[in-house]
This record gives sequence, structure tokens and C-alpha cells, in this order.
Amino acid sequence: KAKDTGRNNYQFFTDDINQKLVTHLDLVRDLRLAISNEEFHLVFQPQLCLNSYKLTGFEALIRWTCPKRGFVPPDQFINTAEDTGLIIPIGRLVISKACEQLKSLIQEQLVADNVVMTVNISAKQFQDESLISHIKDELQRNNIPAHQFEIELTESILMENIDEVIIKLKQIQQLGILISIDDFGTGYSSLGYLKQLPVNIIKVDRSFVSDIPESKDDMEITAAVIAMAHKLNYLVVAEGVETQEQLNFLRSCKCNYGQGYLFSKPLASQDLLAFCKNYSATSISQQYS
Ligand code: C2E
Ligand code: MG
Ligand code: MG
Ligand code: MG
Repeated sequence: KAKDTGRNNYQFFTDDINQKLVTHLDLVRDLRLAISNEEFHLVFQPQLCLNSYKLTGFEALIRWTCPKRGFVPPDQFINTAEDTGLIIPIGRLVISKACEQLKSLIQEQLVADNVVMTVNISAKQFQDESLISHIKDELQRNNIPAHQFEIELTESILMENIDEVIIKLKQIQQLGILISIDDFGTGYSSLGYLKQLPVNIIKVDRSFVSDIPESKDDMEITAAVIAMAHKLNYLVVAEGVETQEQLNFLRSCKCNYGQGYLFSKPLASQDLLAFCKNYSATSISQQYS
């Protein structure tokens, strides 16, 4: 069609597509290199109980430092990794490293024996036949009880092939692994639909928390989601808690857990060790109550 409108347009059109393709292929090549050159590492964001202020877990988040590009945030490469299947080796690496980190925290006796390590799982990874056996192997290798491991899935993953999804989730839950729904509220699923699925935890998306208390709508939505989730026996985590006011509001809604810059940014391994060493629920509760 572009061809009909003249030579120049055609040229422009293909150049544009070529440019996109080159950019894409460039990223794919760098991602492949990143895997073999071990350019990925994890950071860990603490999660707190909003009632006791005890440390309840950590979310593992991937970081890529490319020698050529510098720091590349996950939002800029996870989709490409997903499209090319590279998310499979990258995801395996995330699971392994997350388990190794929890193992060392347990060995150094820096965490309670119910502290949970949670990892993000993408759609392709969830469909991968070897996901469950890989998680099982890593838990075993690092001596981690299944109840201290959690996977985060987005609503869109759970909306497709419901029968297969239920079978897989049941297999995971039977092992004792926890399952949470990440970014809840950004997809099109309802809690009623999700109720059919064996899921333990709802993570209310940061976008609902970030405009509290300015947005009265967001406050009502957040309060309603938390109340409904509790009625359906889910535990609720609020993402992106940045201010004392947001914390107060979430506590008034009886939100179970919180995660966000107010408590801590995601931490590199060394900083995580220091954070856990210094952590005191008593002093944190005095600071925020
Ligand atoms: P997510 O799973 O919803 O992770 C939460 C994101 O919010 C993280 O961004 C975290 O750094 C950020 N965050 C946490 N607290 C606050 C806060 O108080 N304020 C603000 N503004 N942001 C906060 P990050 O690390 O850039 O990750 C972005 C997304 O990339 C993640 O969203 C997740 O969907 C994906 N991702 C990250 N690591 C992995 C991974 O290992 N595997 C997969 N498949 N996806 C990952
Ligand atoms: Mg997440
Ligand atoms: Mg999230
Ligand atoms: Mg998010």
C-alpha cells in the first residue's frame, strides 16, 4: 500500500521498518551475550507486615548492566526476552539466584523461617514444561522449604487456557509454593473469575496506591479491592507504598503487607544482608505508627 503512494513514501516506510528490525535484532544479540557473559544480577525489595511490621519477604527483581548500553531497566528488555524465548534461560537464572540469596539469608540466620522469596514469572515461562521441576530442583539444592517460595503471575497469564492454567497452578500449590497475582487491577479479570484459581495473594498495583490520598477514586477502589479480596480469603500486598499517608490508609483498610520506597528500595545482595541485620520490627513500628 505504501508503494502506491510513491517511491519516496515506500522508501521511507521500509527504512522505518528496517530501523525497527535492526534495533530489535541488536537488542536480541545483546541479550544473548548478556546471558553468556552473566551481565544480569538480582535486587531484592523487602515486604513488611503492615500490622506487626515484621519482615515477611522479598521480591526478586532483575537488573541488567550491559557494557555497551549501560543500565537497562527490565521494562525495556523483558518483552523482547519473552518474544524470543530468551526469557526461559533468563527466568531460570532468576529462580536460581533468588533461591541462592534466600539460602544465604537463612544460613546466616538473618530471617525468620517463614520469610518468603517471590519471583516474577512471565507467560512463556509459565507455559514452559520444565518450570515446576526446575523450581523443585532449586528449592532442593538450596534447602528451601516450598512455603518460603512464591511466584508472581499477571492477570493476562491466568486469562488464557483456563483449564490448563488451573491444572498447573494446582501442581504448584500442591508443592506448597505460594502463588500471587501481580499488578492486580491493571488487567481485565475480576476477583470472581480469579476465585476459580488456586491463588493465595493479590498484589494491588502501584498505580492505585500512587495517587492516594489525592485521588478519592483510587482510595475507594483500593479499599474495595482489599475488602473483597479478604472476603474471598486472599492476602493482600500493596505495591509502591511511598508515603506515610498511603501507609496509614492501607493500614486502615487492613491491607496485610506492603512493599515500596517508604520502607526500602530494591537492594543489591550486600545491602540486603545489612538491611536484614539491622532490621527491627519494634523500631520500624515506632517510626511509622
Ligand atoms: P513488578 O513485578 O510489578 O515490580 C515492581 C516494580 O515497581 C519494580 O520495578 C520496583 O522496583 C518498582 N517499585 C517498587 N516500589 C516502588 C515505589 O515505591 N515506587 C516506585 N515508583 N516504584 C517502585 P522494576 O524492578 O523496574 O521492574 C519492573 C517490572 O519488570 C516488574 O514489575 C516486572 O513486571 C518486570 N520484572 C522485573 N524483574 C523481573 C524478572 O526477574 N522476571 C520477569 N519475568 N519480570 C521481571
Ligand atoms: Mg512483581
Ligand atoms: Mg507488580
Ligand atoms: Mg508493576
